[in-house]
Amino acid sequence: MLATPRFPLIQTPTPLHRLGRLSNELGVDLWIKRDDLTGFAGGGNKGRKLEYLLADALRSGADTVVTCGALQSNFIRQLGAACAVAGLKCAAAAMALPYLERPVQEPALRATGGNVLLDEIFGVDLRIYPDGDWDDLYARSEVLALECEAKGARVYRIPVGGSSPLGAYSFYIAAQELAAQSEEPFDAIVFASSSGSTQVGLAYAYAGTTTQPIGIACDPEPDIAEDFAEIGLGLARLLHVNPMPASAFRLDFRAVGPGYAAWSPETNRAIVKMARSEGILLDPVYSGKAFEALLSMAADRALSGRVLFWHTGGVPGLFAATGPL
Ligand SMILES: *Cc1c(COP(=O)(O)O)cnc(C)c1O
Repeated sequence: MLATPRFPLIQTPTPLHRLGRLSNELGVDLWIKRDDLTGFAGGGNKGRKLEYLLADALRSGADTVVTCGALQSNFIRQLGAACAVAGLKCAAAAMALPYLERPVQEPALRATGGNVLLDEIFGVDLRIYPDGDWDDLYARSEVLALECEAKGARVYRIPVGGSSPLGAYSFYIAAQELAAQSEEPFDAIVFASSSGSTQVGLAYAYAGTTTQPIGIACDPEPDIAEDFAEIGLGLARLLHVNPMPASAFRLDFRAVGPGYAAWSPETNRAIVKMARSEGILLDPVYSGKAFEALLSMAADRALSGRVLFWHTGGVPGLFAATGPL
């Protein structure tokens, strides 16, 4: 294994435990990996990625990190905390709700509270722009980075969601963490998938095994697996393995709804189901959708054996939910 530098932020291993009530009800042996409980900045999968991204930013000699995301981004929140801990400035370009082709009619989250409040607490220089599509947001982010550089900052740029090869590497390593915790391998691992590095890391980790990682799409972008393959190219270089084609990333779109972060009664029902069965909180944009899809797959008998729900976090977003449930 390569010695990739890591800047410690999260408490590992995150808990792994069985969901007894849901196992009985769904007829599968259902477990949960609690990345909502990283012990860092409100939890979530971005803490893993940031350990490697921050180490790389520090190695590069940067004093400022620039990224972008939706206003209620869990990534910007955790990045803000990581930069504070590392003594770096953090600037982020945000839009209330960037979209693919047309704006979402009913957003699942408000533009205040939740992650936005936490960004302020962590000291993020959050620049909010009028809504546009994702390419508009990436362009804003680059302009912001250039603005910081014009003022003399040494900028480290991080793509949306921390989805660079190093972000994916963190989930390749997370699979080893899981293996050390679990007596038997899982047949399927179900998780929310969006910017892709979670899925890319897990897909590389389980390639050629009996464990099937199933990403539940949170963006209605049909060709998103092409982006995942691109992230994977960089990971393959890091690991000295052959790259995986886009077709190797199993994505399920059944819970995606009309747009990223769109309000959905089915997702809200899944959130309530998890809360009232196991006392565990999910969010309306990611983990709630992943669990909604898991319930639907179990009902279709598309899941069997030992199944892991990888909780990717997002709970702070629940405190900005537009509701009602
Ligand atoms: C970012 C995020 C995801 C998606 O992870 P990607 O690596 O971007 O695909 C899933 N769940 C939550 C809560 C997130 O914040």
